Amino acid sequence: MKNYNRCKKHCKEHETLTYETPASETPVNETPASETCINELSIGTHLSVAKGYAALAKDAVQIGANTFQMFIRNPRGARAKELKPGEIETFLDSLQMHGFGPFIAHAPYTLNLCSSSRHLRELSARMMGEDLQRMELMPGNLYNLHPGSRLDQPLDSAIEQIAQGLNHVMFPDMKTTVLLETMSGKGSEVGKRFEELKEILDRVAQKDHIGVCMDACHMWDSGYDIVDRLDETLEQFDRLIGLNRLKAFHINDSMNVRESHKDRHTLIGEGHIGEDTIIRIINHPRLCHLPFILETPTDLAGHAQEIKKLRKQYVWGSVSDKISEQNGIIKTYLGTDF
Ligand SMILES: [Zn+2]
Ligand SMILES: [Zn+2]
Repeated sequence: MKNYNRCKKHCKEHETLTYETPASETPVNETPASETCINELSIGTHLSVAKGYAALAKDAVQIGANTFQMFIRNPRGARAKELKPGEIETFLDSLQMHGFGPFIAHAPYTLNLCSSSRHLRELSARMMGEDLQRMELMPGNLYNLHPGSRLDQPLDSAIEQIAQGLNHVMFPDMKTTVLLETMSGKGSEVGKRFEELKEILDRVAQKDHIGVCMDACHMWDSGYDIVDRLDETLEQFDRLIGLNRLKAFHINDSMNVRESHKDRHTLIGEGHIGEDTIIRIINHPRLCHLPFILETPTDLAGHAQEIKKLRKQYVWGSVSDKISEQNGIIKTYLGTDF
């Protein structure tokens, strides 16, 4: 309980806390303070921007999210969506009005800073550079990147190329934090081990603007036993990289057994990771303040259900989440629109 109170007042102290409070110990009903990261679970899902930013914000609110992830250009192509005048301002106003925390822009899947083709490496850097410029219009958010696929290149050269690419497009005083995602090791993906991410991070010049996004499915598929050894996995990350560098978490279940290197996401509770582990992750004192993003294969109504279910299981935020529900945000969505 002592930890909880400290945590509540000084969320930045998560890094120095040890995990002593069992997840089942629900905090007593206290009035939520206005400036804590753990009163309310920060949760959302990957959403489409196809109908514009205003429609995306509306979808996010309606499914009970207070963060989200989106592509800011075609995920399988190079084209960025045209911005209408005032579109970003309206979007940001709407997010602020509904109490959203930082969101994630996900880099396109085609972006590969360690491609064996020089042309593709340069194209990737150009796309990412443009994306980061666009992100300057939306300050304080996150840009998540798959480090790359090295094909038949040696790992060392791939890591060097990724770092060079990042150093080319990142700049001092940038307003976005770039995140490297933990990968499953499918094909020749770089980033399946924390050591590989560390090697990249060590070479990046803008240290204040780079971090990591964990993906539960990817880590499991890569071999990390987050089901039975979550604390050990986090300690390992902390030793190598530092948990202060962890800025977001993709909470996906996995269709496959551990170390399968497959990267097939499934709904929470329907895979080999299981609901209990996802609940432990969102409640873990060293993780509970992070934005949690669902990349599970379902529609908006399905995501609303998943968000609602996980909010109920968030031990730190039972008070404010009940308030959200009373306000009818989630009920309205589930009851009328679908
Ligand atoms: Zn990803
Ligand atoms: Zn992911």
